[in-house]
Amino acid sequence: MALIVQKYGGTSVGDLDCIRNVAQRVVSSAAVGNQVAVVVSAMAGETDQLVSWAREIGGEQPDPREVDMLVSTGEQKTIALLALAIRQLGHSARSFTGGQMGIRTDTAHTRARIASVDAERLQAVLDRGTVAVLAGFQGIDDEGNITTLGRGGSDTSAVAVAAALGADICEIYTDVEGVYTSDPRVVPRARKLDRISYDEMIEMASLGAKVLQIRSVRFAMRHGVPLHVRSSFIPDEGTWVVPEEGVMEGLFVSGVTYNRDEAKIRLRGVKDHPGIAARIFAPLSEAEIVVDMIIQNLSQDGTTDITFTVARDDYRRALAIVEAECAAIGAAGVDGDQSIAKVSIVGLGMKDHAGVASRMFQVLAEHGVNIQLISTSEIKVSVVIEESHTESAVRALHAAFLEAGADEPRSEA
Ligand code: ADP
Ligand code: ASP
Ligand code: MG
Repeated sequence: MALIVQKYGGTSVGDLDCIRNVAQRVVSSAAVGNQVAVVVSAMAGETDQLVSWAREIGGEQPDPREVDMLVSTGEQKTIALLALAIRQLGHSARSFTGGQMGIRTDTAHTRARIASVDAERLQAVLDRGTVAVLAGFQGIDDEGNITTLGRGGSDTSAVAVAAALGADICEIYTDVEGVYTSDPRVVPRARKLDRISYDEMIEMASLGAKVLQIRSVRFAMRHGVPLHVRSSFIPDEGTWVVPEEGVMEGLFVSGVTYNRDEAKIRLRGVKDHPGIAARIFAPLSEAEIVVDMIIQNLSQDGTTDITFTVARDDYRRALAIVEAECAAIGAAGVDGDQSIAKVSIVGLGMKDHAGVASRMFQVLAEHGVNIQLISTSEIKVSVVIEESHTESAVRALHAAFLEAGADEPRSEA
């Protein structure tokens, strides 16, 4: 007998037939004696709809407490429907909201962090042989306010519940068969990975592979929760997310990702002297705007250009803040561009192989893709390009690094 946490994403519970399919899967796992806690998302498209209603009625920046009150209702529907479907199959099941299951978070509405889960209460339900159906994405703060965990947050709910219960495994059921070398919807030749390390998965998630929310992978790594990403529609094994030692494939590049959710801001003719960067970025950080890439050009005649990227949702606010600082720092002007995309290659093997970045730039050049910004780390290289080139760039890089006939990397050893 095992203790299993299963999480089903939006498309897996997209309509009543899908919910019945999920109920079957849950019951077949419980029927062989496993204890099963199920975490579910809202029906596909529901959270988007609720977010857009909040904006329509509450303005560009609707009150975050009320937004959480609203968007958390999506999950409340699906837990009740799934519990009913499981009961129809003759198995006992009970649904619980985040608050009812003691999923405590901090007070940061719309991006709250989980502090604790009431594992005793949950275990007591499971010990009675009942399937616990839990609302993903939501929690409750110390004052009883409903909070949500950021888009894609049900993955993190599932991992937190698995960690609190000491579950044997956390299964993430979704609409693709696992983690692929690139988004299978963009790259038809992408292939499923049998295993991927936590570190690579964290990098892939942070660079746009939305199959897992980045926080869920960090949480799983910290608590040693084994993650199995798999399809809710077919029974085959999916992808195991495991510690580095467990990854045997030895790919030097394991994934190509893209992110269309960023925007670029450029300050022109900024004076090149100490304190200027602090002056630009301090008010952005006070406004809790996360800056991703930053590049400063070589200075000419004592002035320079500084370009940086932020999430597209923060673009207007960031632009207004920087425009307000512009005069004070003596910059010649500010401009921005929202039609950009960040395309990245990720792989543990890059640590030991030279020439990966230059090969990437060469491939993009051969496809006529202009590079606007570059950033690198030990296991990734990212470039910002014009958004309309996203798909062709991702496919070209996948062909160059991950398909038959791909170049052998030069080893440093
Ligand atoms: P869910 O609703 O189940 O949480 P998501 O839409 O959040 O599902 O995540 C699954 C989607 O992630 C897939 O449909 C796929 O298009 C996308 N995706 C992006 N990159 C990858 C990748 N490298 N591997 C698998 N899926 C990916
Ligand atoms: N329903 C939420 C969202 O769409 C949470 C999730 O699906 O993980 O972001
Ligand atoms: Mg998701």
